[in-house]
Amino acid sequence: MHFGLTEEQDMIVSTVRSFVENEIYPHEAEVERTGEVPNDVAQAIKQKTIDLGFYACNFPESVGGAGLSHLEFALVERELGRGSMALNHFFGRPQNILMACKEDQIERYLTPAIRGEKMDALAMTEPDAGSDVRGMKCTAKRDAGDWVLNGTKHFISGADHADFVIVFVATGEDDTPRGPKKRITTFLVDRGTPGFTIRDGYKSVSHRGYKNMILEFDNCRLPDAQVLGEVDGGFAVMNEWLYATRITVATMSVGRARRCFDMALNYAAERKQFGQQIGKYQGISFQ
Ligand SMILES: Cc1cc2nc3c(=O)[nH]c(=O)nc-3n(C[C@H](O)[C@H](O)[C@H](O)COP(=O)(O)OP(=O)(O)OC[C@H]3O[C@@H](n4cnc5c(N)ncnc54)[C@H](O)[C@@H]3O)c2cc1C
Repeated sequence: MHFGLTEEQDMIVSTVRSFVENEIYPHEAEVERTGEVPNDVAQAIKQKTIDLGFYACNFPESVGGAGLSHLEFALVERELGRGSMALNHFFGRPQNILMACKEDQIERYLTPAIRGEKMDALAMTEPDAGSDVRGMKCTAKRDAGDWVLNGTKHFISGADHADFVIVFVATGEDDTPRGPKKRITTFLVDRGTPGFTIRDGYKSVSHRGYKNMILEFDNCRLPDAQVLGEVDGGFAVMNEWLYATRITVATMSVGRARRCFDMALNYAAERKQFGQQIGKYQGISFQ
């Protein structure tokens, strides 16, 4: 049995590695200094990713993606992990939960997201509901045939650039032997929808230029056509599409750790103290 990568997988790794080295690394110092990604740089990264055939590479070919397997996509994320998260954001990987789009949602959200014409963000976390997703307080209530959303989401990555947001909200509660359990529904909310505002989130210690945003819903009215998946079926949509991201977050972290190691290794080889490279001293060389 062969556990190594195939020739094609090796090629994916080297293609994405050179992309990161040539298109991402050169802009990192400026993003680090200013905390912003200049729009022309963002658009250039996006266009080059499209030209390379890697935009939305996590989507099947049947809907216009590159059709990478989970392993191949994990390799892509590992290489992207070497570079700035703010810049890599434009090497677009829309949320694969958009595969749950139906009917005209396909033309309005799925296809433009895969083509790079619209960007998405995903909103689950709330100030009082992080790991405990079901503890969410954001609600959507029925009113005159529409849904009316109220509540706050925070830590939402990429919402500063998003044309629409995929939002998880409580649409009811069931009594269970273990206490009340929220029913969750997923909605597609366009930027600019009345009652929906996006504002700056908190300063974070790392990922300069990669912003987390706060979303406010204040009597934001949405028709049924904005429900992604089934009403009260938010957990089913999450289970089907979101859990794969746990692997990609982990592989991205591996990429980051590898870059840190490379930098430390080079420094240990270049830096000299007491007449020799510091990497020759045991305390450093063991590491
Ligand atoms: C870089 C970044 C980007 C993010 N982007 C998004 C985004 O785009 N959309 C979005 O919705 N959210 C996003 N988040 C939010 C993220 O999903 C939450 O931070 C996460 O769910 C944890 O929630 P919390 O920060 O409120 O921590 P808490 O849930 O308050 O957890 C605090 C600590 O308690 C521990 N803990 C909690 N429950 C248990 C338990 N039962 N047993 C043992 N330990 C426990 C946790 O492991 C953690 O160490 C992002 C976060 C980061 C850091």
